[in-house]
Amino acid sequence: MLPPITGLHHVTAMCGDPQRNVDFYAGVLGLRLVKRTVNFDDPSTYHLYYGDALGAPGTLLTFFAWPGAQRGRRGTGQVAVTALRIPASSVSFWLDRLHTHQVVGVDVGKRDAATVISLADPDGMRLELVGTPEADDAKKDEAVWRGGPVTLEHAIRALHGVTAELAATPKTVALLTEVMGLKPADAEVGRKQRFRTVSSGGEKPNQFIELVAAPDDRPGQVSVGFVHHIAWRAQDAATQAAWREKLLSLGHAVSPVIDRTYFHAIYFREPGGVLFEIATDPPGFTADGETLETLGSHLQLPPQYEGRRAALEAGLPPIHLPSDHTSPQASPAE
Ligand code: ZN
Repeated sequence: MLPPITGLHHVTAMCGDPQRNVDFYAGVLGLRLVKRTVNFDDPSTYHLYYGDALGAPGTLLTFFAWPGAQRGRRGTGQVAVTALRIPASSVSFWLDRLHTHQVVGVDVGKRDAATVISLADPDGMRLELVGTPEADDAKKDEAVWRGGPVTLEHAIRALHGVTAELAATPKTVALLTEVMGLKPADAEVGRKQRFRTVSSGGEKPNQFIELVAAPDDRPGQVSVGFVHHIAWRAQDAATQAAWREKLLSLGHAVSPVIDRTYFHAIYFREPGGVLFEIATDPPGFTADGETLETLGSHLQLPPQYEGRRAALEAGLPPIHLPSDHTSPQASPAE
């Protein structure tokens, strides 16, 4: 019997201009750029990874940069909203910060005990900052990113979850609950259903996937401003292999295991159309020789592209980290 899926590993989306993406996620949201590399399937474009100081699974939001590409279109069979977790006590800090940085689409509401700030990134990707009491727990010191513009007290803690819009939900519900071991998160059954991961030992806050049934909507189109896929965690390669066998036995078309340097990945499309990945926790973001201190500082290439480094570097637009350390939110008076 396979253990249940314990959480999200990462969410990967598509962005336009890579510098604008860095300015927003590292500069405004204060995440750490934990890896600058290329799209392993298209090495002429960037793949940028953001997370906590360690690049820990469950904190990772990543982007394929396609400058000049057309924006995607909202619809069924895709993730509509990506939610990040903040301390409940930090909601007013974030509302001020988003306002100061003229972030668009900012709205605030309630969901159960949580306060939810809705916003859009510079490519129109829909995000939420969810203020929950679970996030008030102090994060381990080593996981806190101290090089960014947001102080420890208010820093984004982790991925909170995703909302997917589907033409029909029953088969996806069956996959999540009967195969992957997620639990219904609330009693309400209606247009929206929410499911939570089951953490091992209960030491980690749950993550969520919300399904919205939208039978009358047309299919969405995944491109700039939209999520490309979501990845769930497997603790090791053996667990991932067991998941692969299980999913194949149930008739899912699962990819072979693919080496992504920082984790190993398998991919399959869930019945509602969203691309799912199962990614291993190891080996993590120091696997390429970068240290925890230098994560994200230089372009890292997988071995198969190292021989083409000069040409690839010349073709990629230069990017730099914002030096936003003097923003009003980071001043001693705050
Ligand atoms: Zn992925």
